[in-house]
Amino acid sequence: MSMSIVNNSYIESHNICLKHKRPREICCIQCKEVICTKCALFDHRNHPFREVEAVGAENAENVQEILQLQQKLESTKAKIDARSWEPIVREKY
Ligand SMILES: [Zn+2]
Ligand SMILES: [Zn+2]
Repeated sequence: MSMSIVNNSYIESHNICLKHKRPREICCIQCKEVICTKCALFDHRNHPFREVEAVGAENAENVQEILQLQQKLESTKAKIDARSWEPIVREKY
């Protein structure tokens, strides 16, 4: 009996794309998924990406949490921006 060189637990623990056997190092913001470069090129073409290192997470679950937090943060920021513009607009007119 021959053992496969790369078994599933290795793939999971090292965060490797099962489809392409490549390290999952890109974070698709649209799908909230951590994907490999080939996934990015083919399955997630035209989707917004971020590097996993940039997101600062080591596994898919953390990245999803961080993405959700980022989305909240950005929507909050947008609200604050909109509010902070109000007095400036009033001053002008
Ligand atoms: Zn892939
Ligand atoms: Zn995607």
